[in-house]
Amino acid sequence: MALRLFDSLSRELRELKPAHADGVFRFYNCGPTVYAPSHIGNFRTFVINDVLRRLLELQFGASKVKHVRNLTDVDDKTIRRAREEQRRLADVTQQWTAKFHADCDALNCLRPHVEPTATGHIREQVDMIAVLMQKGNAYRAADGSVYFKVGSFDGYGRLSRVKERELQLGSALAGKVHAADADEKEDVSDFALWKAWKAEDGDVKWPGPDDAAAGRPGWHIECSAMSKKHLGDTIDLHTGGVDLLFPHHENEIAQSECCNGVTFSRHWYHSEHLLVDGKKMSKSLGNLYTLDELRGKHFDPLVVRLALLQAHPRKQLNFTLDTLHAADRALTTIHAFWQSIPDGKGSERDFDSVLDALRDDLNFPAALGALFTIIARGPQHVSRAACTAALFALGLDRAPIERAKADVPAKIKSIAEKRWAAKQVKDFAAADALRKELSAAGWSMLDRKDGYSLEPVKK
Ligand code: AMP
Ligand code: ZN
Repeated sequence: MALRLFDSLSRELRELKPAHADGVFRFYNCGPTVYAPSHIGNFRTFVINDVLRRLLELQFGASKVKHVRNLTDVDDKTIRRAREEQRRLADVTQQWTAKFHADCDALNCLRPHVEPTATGHIREQVDMIAVLMQKGNAYRAADGSVYFKVGSFDGYGRLSRVKERELQLGSALAGKVHAADADEKEDVSDFALWKAWKAEDGDVKWPGPDDAAAGRPGWHIECSAMSKKHLGDTIDLHTGGVDLLFPHHENEIAQSECCNGVTFSRHWYHSEHLLVDGKKMSKSLGNLYTLDELRGKHFDPLVVRLALLQAHPRKQLNFTLDTLHAADRALTTIHAFWQSIPDGKGSERDFDSVLDALRDDLNFPAALGALFTIIARGPQHVSRAACTAALFALGLDRAPIERAKADVPAKIKSIAEKRWAAKQVKDFAAADALRKELSAAGWSMLDRKDGYSLEPVKK
């Protein structure tokens, strides 16, 4: 069966296929901004993209998928965080990159093949901006910043239909989005490709393109430049959360297509948000849960993953602790079933109903429904390999890493969680102190890359 996915640009379900002669499917997923722990709303998006990556591998072969996900390691937020903490920008972003990787591993997300950073691709961004200036799509403003001239690109607004919306709303939307740097621009909807250095940027600056001032790249250009470098001018699929559709992805299309003169991405996909009490989970609203907080409540990361797969990815999902309790029970059932399948039974098609639901626009509720229908019939006549393939697609093909052992006291578990969290952020002094606290209480903690276990100290 073909792998079909909703395309946000044409607004229809379309089959995913590699377009290049080498048969490699080129997949770009916008990554995190690394200045704080990602919350489980962010991880809803990354888990959805991980299922997509797994399905692409099943469909085209693991060696025929190239997955790129960037790390935004320079922007207003990262710079502000470094300033507040009086640390070097790179120290802050490396700390939170390590934490992001640890959380992704715990959630059983496959690592992308390339994880480029914005600061590691300044040259590529500057080169692209220079081309846009030469072609008349960008201009230098009075302060030495460079802006993209939205009016120079006819295709602007096709993805988000922003022009239609603006006609209805006046230009209020564009005005609001860009109010901060409005004075320097020729037109209110133009956006920054290069931002001239300001005192609050501290020592964060690079030489600019052509006669622009020293400064740093705007956010949007990083994805255009890194996608071009690692995947080429035309890619097969570009994804992110719905909030990235406008202006981020609209601006990426404008930059890339004006620079390269060809279609930027053949397919666009945006997944919906995780909500708390009906509102988007976000750092600015402060209504977020981190993976560590949920681990502190003794939910295994794989339980969190399953909870994030509960709704259709193009529908909002309201997060509650009840969802987690239900996912905890469901995961126990799934794994018990998987383990109890006898050797050498069944056929490789036993779990096609699960995979077909996933291939049909990532229909998670239908896929989990199909899985539980099979489970209800019992493990006696199904193929273990087929079950493993279905669990691989969902990313549930691993034993829980730290299902709380019933005999570990709550107080010990909570010290262990604190120590794990300290280690993730490389606070080794705190981690050592907590290890001593554990051993004084008669417990030793065994660390692994993706988790830990607790053992009573043998006397
Ligand atoms: P950021 O680290 O803020 O750049 O966001 C990383 C990814 O998380 C982006 O694809 C966002 O669209 C996505 N995202 C942010 N908030 C949520 C949320 N509440 N639910 C789902 N995805 C989100
Ligand atoms: Zn991006």
